[in-house]
Amino acid sequence: MAKTKEPKIQREAHILCFAFPAQGHISPILQFCKRLASKGLKVTLVSTCTSSTTNKFFQTQANSIKVEFISDGTEEEKSTVKSTEEFFELYKVLVSQSLSEFMEKQLGSENPPKFVIYDSIIPWIFDVARSFAIEAAPFFTQPWAVNSVNFHFLQGKFKVPVEEPVLSLPSMPPLKVTDLPSYFDINGSYPLALSVLVNQFTNMEKPKWLFCNSFDKLEEELVKWMASKYPVKNIGPSIPSKYFSKQCLENDKAYGLSLFKPNTDTCMTWLDSKDPGSVVYVSFGSVADLEKDQMEEVAWGLKKSNTFFLWVVRESESEKLTKNFSEETSDKGLIVTWCLQPEVLAHKSVGCFMTHCGWNSTLEALCLGLPMVAMPRLFDQTTNAKYVEDVWGVGVRVRLNEERMVTREEVEVCIREIMEGERGKEIRRNSEKWKKLAKEAIDEGGSSDKTIEELVQKILSS
Ligand code: UDP
Repeated sequence: MAKTKEPKIQREAHILCFAFPAQGHISPILQFCKRLASKGLKVTLVSTCTSSTTNKFFQTQANSIKVEFISDGTEEEKSTVKSTEEFFELYKVLVSQSLSEFMEKQLGSENPPKFVIYDSIIPWIFDVARSFAIEAAPFFTQPWAVNSVNFHFLQGKFKVPVEEPVLSLPSMPPLKVTDLPSYFDINGSYPLALSVLVNQFTNMEKPKWLFCNSFDKLEEELVKWMASKYPVKNIGPSIPSKYFSKQCLENDKAYGLSLFKPNTDTCMTWLDSKDPGSVVYVSFGSVADLEKDQMEEVAWGLKKSNTFFLWVVRESESEKLTKNFSEETSDKGLIVTWCLQPEVLAHKSVGCFMTHCGWNSTLEALCLGLPMVAMPRLFDQTTNAKYVEDVWGVGVRVRLNEERMVTREEVEVCIREIMEGERGKEIRRNSEKWKKLAKEAIDEGGSSDKTIEELVQKILSS
């Protein structure tokens, strides 16, 4: 008997998102993926694996996203790399190749991807996608405040070293060199990664959408200015929704992929034993290092503030911690190597976040209405800190002394200002305002939700 041909199954449209494999980059795009999946798309998140990263991504939560890792070359191929610029050059060559092979397989599958979203710091993914005739768009993981400084630099609006005492850029407050991303400050303590970060804007003319982890009300004037030139679209805040939105995604209490293993139970049990709003949570993110003497100043500043503190000191940093500090302060503090940060920030005992102002940390604090002590270290953090203090009014920024150090006295004063001072009360009021606006943006019918819906409809109808 002749076999009847099985009817072709109608599948949901497929979108592929490419993440750069760093914690601060993979988390927001994964969260974006969850939003797209919640609206009915099939989503594959692709990133690269190296012996130093793949095995270290802990899946902290089951989610609806398929995660695939592709190769970024062998250790031998990468062994000659000496600088950030060289790393990105080689990454481009090797990943263009493995991504093309991956795409070829995907295009031969039953449900090939119709759209590619990629991290804006690797803009050449656009060309890889287009070589397969697939539409593609970048996702900026920093706010427009930072994107626009990069953009104006590329347009020749200012040069490095910056000569003007104060820069005046459209729809931005006056910016001193210390407010610009650290790679524009030649006196900064970190080397330039200028070309890599500014290169995000080299092909801005090509994509039909430029997505960003921000929301319209947060950077209203700046978004309007950029939108008058480019198709910019905010889809943020791209953070786990459980803690700030009633219309949260199912089981959305963590991003889902973590580079370090979190000490969740230890943190939660300790926080449960503290009074509401009595704890300062301290973290400098997944990349920034503190010099040994700077670490010491933070440590003694925390002790002098006489407040309870929960401090994340990554394993690679723990050697720098003053001997016995942990034991000597055990009645006041808990030091862990990593935690599930959004869960900690949402805990009622936490009253202040001392942060390096990485964009994800900043957004998490904004969405949870948590006041900040901003202690930026590198990259975009300096600009984020400027906005935290002077534009959004949700924190105080530490001042550096002549040696560009943050002293223990400064740490103490800033923490006390938030926890006890009059300014702290005003900051708390501002924080509540931004929390409400963040929630409105992402909840059903909000500006970011509408943008995501628009993208989904476009993909479904293409
Ligand atoms: N984070 C975390 N546990 C920690 C410290 C940080 O889960 O103990 C997360 C934090 O919630 C944020 C990310 O790591 O989402 C750090 O990203 P961010 O942009 O703030 O800084 P980066 O690490 O890129 O400098």
